[in-house]
Amino acid sequence: MPALPVRDLAALVGETNVLVGEASRPYLTDATEAEGVSGLADAIVRPPTAESAAAVVEWCYTRGIPIVPRGGGTGYAGGCVPQGGGVVLSTELLTRTRSLDPIHWCAQVEAGVTTRRLQTLARENGLYFPVDPGAAEQSHVGGNVATNAGGPHAFKYGVMRAWVTGLEVIFAPGGQVTKLGSSVRKDVAGYDLVSLLAGSEGTLGVITAVDVRMIPAVAARYPVVAFFSSLEAGVEAMDTTLASGTAPSALEYLDGPTTEMARRSFPKALPEGVVLTLIAEADGSPGEATAGRTALLEALSPESTGVYAPTAPGEIEALWRWREGIGIAVDAAYGGKVSEDIAVPLQALAAAIEATLCIGESHGLTACSWGHAGDGNLHSTFVFDRTDARAVKEAKIAAGDLFELAIELGGTISGEHGLGMLKNGWLRNQWSQEAVALQEGIKSLFDPKCLLNPGKKES
Ligand SMILES: Cc1cc2nc3c(=O)[nH]c(=O)nc-3n(C[C@H](O)[C@H](O)[C@H](O)COP(=O)(O)OP(=O)(O)OC[C@H]3O[C@@H](n4cnc5c(N)ncnc54)[C@H](O)[C@@H]3O)c2cc1C
Repeated sequence: MPALPVRDLAALVGETNVLVGEASRPYLTDATEAEGVSGLADAIVRPPTAESAAAVVEWCYTRGIPIVPRGGGTGYAGGCVPQGGGVVLSTELLTRTRSLDPIHWCAQVEAGVTTRRLQTLARENGLYFPVDPGAAEQSHVGGNVATNAGGPHAFKYGVMRAWVTGLEVIFAPGGQVTKLGSSVRKDVAGYDLVSLLAGSEGTLGVITAVDVRMIPAVAARYPVVAFFSSLEAGVEAMDTTLASGTAPSALEYLDGPTTEMARRSFPKALPEGVVLTLIAEADGSPGEATAGRTALLEALSPESTGVYAPTAPGEIEALWRWREGIGIAVDAAYGGKVSEDIAVPLQALAAAIEATLCIGESHGLTACSWGHAGDGNLHSTFVFDRTDARAVKEAKIAAGDLFELAIELGGTISGEHGLGMLKNGWLRNQWSQEAVALQEGIKSLFDPKCLLNPGKKES
């Protein structure tokens, strides 16, 4: 491809908003950098408005130039990593809160607003926005929609899609800013295009603004952490919790090896010989949360070897900070990791936790898993010394075994992070031929030239 006429792009978005050469480097990776994933782009473009973003899309599409939408760059699938040139369209300057209506519990924010900012905006207005993926300081609301992000509290409150009532999107052919849905909470007039965009990983359109709904702030939350010396005891306690009629706001787990790797940073001394750690939380009005906490303690304590149930706000915050840092603690323990996000039916959770360890062993790798137990979503992980080329190669093969396992157990190859470029080609093992053909048809309808995030989410 001939060199990109950067000056033309600068005319659309301003000279300082087009980056090339060394300045583009931070935009060529995402959270998979530790796995050695990086890309190449001709230019990074940072449109300051939705209209200028549309002009960039139109300019690129007409000239056959690939467009790679990028939010906060925290994705775990290489989704925003450009493959072989083109323009990275970063939403980082689209940070306006266009409206916020605390009385009617809704807001419209631009795509580049960080997840944390939206959570804070909600809190400052007596509301709650419950989508809480672990990299909330960096990830963008647009990226959260494009990956249909979850997090610990998705168990009770659902993933990003559940909180989006409307989108402003640039569709590539034509490059017009288009509105889908609105702040209206119910809308079945047409096909559900908002849902189609949720989780589309930048392959169908560029999201420039998002209408979200919220709920009144939750007054109290009480977590209960329980430790178990066998997987059976832990899973039984989890089933007892689910059958008890309490609806925990979160139900998370760490297996034994993960608990060991995160032991030092846990706010209290942990029992020895932990095979499973469960973190559940009760929330609601102070009365509801207190009753929920009692029910959780009753369900989780009997078979456990120890329980930690903080009630002081500082201690609760410290506990969730610890949970958010699990991935970092695992990284720090060995230096390198391949971490996946398979999800399985709840009945198969224990089997998947055990099988993760077996798959690691069969490849000569240390394995562990943690994740969103209530959603059957495992971050099955293989850890290694990053300089060990054999281990790096084996871990990638082992990841394939994990995908096969998930499919065999009736689950999915991705519960959270999407396919990006790392799981290309796997969907056809999970879906029927007919479903794959439909997905491919949808892609070509939205993007006939295949220029929107090419090489991603391929079936
Ligand atoms: C420490 C850590 C913890 C995490 N925890 C969780 C978790 O609990 N749950 C979870 O679901 N994920 C988690 N993630 C993954 C990641 O944070 C989420 O996938 C997040 O939603 C990505 O948002 P982003 O803005 O960083 O997107 P990016 O990484 O920039 O992009 C991700 C994908 O979305 C597309 N995209 C981005 N913005 C737009 C846009 N405006 N329009 C169209 N397409 C766009 C990109 O092309 C790419 O395909 C975690 C990541 C880290 C590093």
